[in-house]
Amino acid sequence: MNAVANEKTAPSPPVVMGVPRETLPGERRVALTPADIKRLGPAFDIIVEAGAGSLAGFPDNDYVQAGARIADVSVLQREASVIVSVRAPEWIAHIKEGGVLISLGARDLSLAKALAETSVVHLGLERLPRITRAQSMDVLSSQASIAGYAAVLEGARHLPVILPMLTTAAGVIKPANVMALGAGVAGLQALATARRMGALTHGFDVRESAREQVESVGASFVAPNVSLASAETSGGYAREQSSDEQAQLRRALAEHLRTMDLIVTTAQIPGRPAPLLIDDETFAALAPGTVIVDMAAESGGNTSRTRPDVEVSFGGVTVLGPTQLPSHAAGDASRMYGGNIRHLLEHLGTKDGALKLDPSDAITSALLGLPKPSEVTTA
Ligand code: NAD
Repeated sequence: MNAVANEKTAPSPPVVMGVPRETLPGERRVALTPADIKRLGPAFDIIVEAGAGSLAGFPDNDYVQAGARIADVSVLQREASVIVSVRAPEWIAHIKEGGVLISLGARDLSLAKALAETSVVHLGLERLPRITRAQSMDVLSSQASIAGYAAVLEGARHLPVILPMLTTAAGVIKPANVMALGAGVAGLQALATARRMGALTHGFDVRESAREQVESVGASFVAPNVSLASAETSGGYAREQSSDEQAQLRRALAEHLRTMDLIVTTAQIPGRPAPLLIDDETFAALAPGTVIVDMAAESGGNTSRTRPDVEVSFGGVTVLGPTQLPSHAAGDASRMYGGNIRHLLEHLGTKDGALKLDPSDAITSALLGLPKPSEVTTA
């Protein structure tokens, strides 16, 4: 066989990829599951840090069975040219020269600054365009679904009432009323979950297009009496309301909130502080025993009393601001996250032992893009 023929048949070397153990307190997810590793096949040589999947229910041995190597973090740092994780690792300065990091954190200003000191190429998953072609890679949606479900369970655990109607010899218990403020991916899943548990459900969103979606999960759409012209951007996200509109909205919403048992707030504007939907005046109108689960706690909160990961009691109302909701179901959250990452890796493709990063591809270029100042928040 001549040299040219040899060249043609020589298999491309695999991409050496590392999956670290997550270190943020409360983070139980892992970026790839054994099933993902099996499906990624020989194009990747995958090193999983020892114990990386254990909190999500994936022991080291399952990774070995799937074809991965288990190693110490120093091996990942030395050998992996691609790191896939949920949160960016604390040791980005130790990622191989010119390596690629695929993780959340695209809106984190301190991470952006730290990355600027390195030669690491960051594919920040929040930057994924919300186009049909990218839906299978959309970690924000997959994780928001799990979080919406977990928020209802968390709220229900703190309620002094049960969600379903119950007829017993001791009397009839009425079904609880559950409201989702913000009916995007998380809010809709919260409503669907609460309804499956027997609650009467209600949803509100500034985007009028959310009405149909709220109704499709069996909830009633709450329409406060305020005019919110063009509340939706061309990208499908909500536009930020003016402070005057926000104040009107809060007063109009208060009327609907006073009869609720559980309120799940999910309202977010990408890259901006979360809108304030429940202020102290509204708190005064809420029934004692009401529970609020504020899913926007990390970006400032939708209530005046939210504190991230702290249970607050104010005027008889309990406010929870959990920031690690996907980790409450870390196994399924990791299955979905890992599936998204696998689709992304398959989309990118590999060549000569490296990921193909084609800037003319809309998905790749968006993931590579430096965050615009308006999209950056200090997490
Ligand atoms: P998000 O997490 O950014 O925000 C949550 C919700 O809060 C949104 O529905 C938003 O409209 C709402 N909101 C913002 N300000 C509010 C306020 N003042 N009061 C009440 N609600 C407020 O949004 P998300 O869940 O990620 O998704 C938003 C939209 O994007 C939805 O329409 C969703 O269907 C769409 N989406 C499209 C794709 C796609 O691939 N095409 C993928 C995912 C989501």
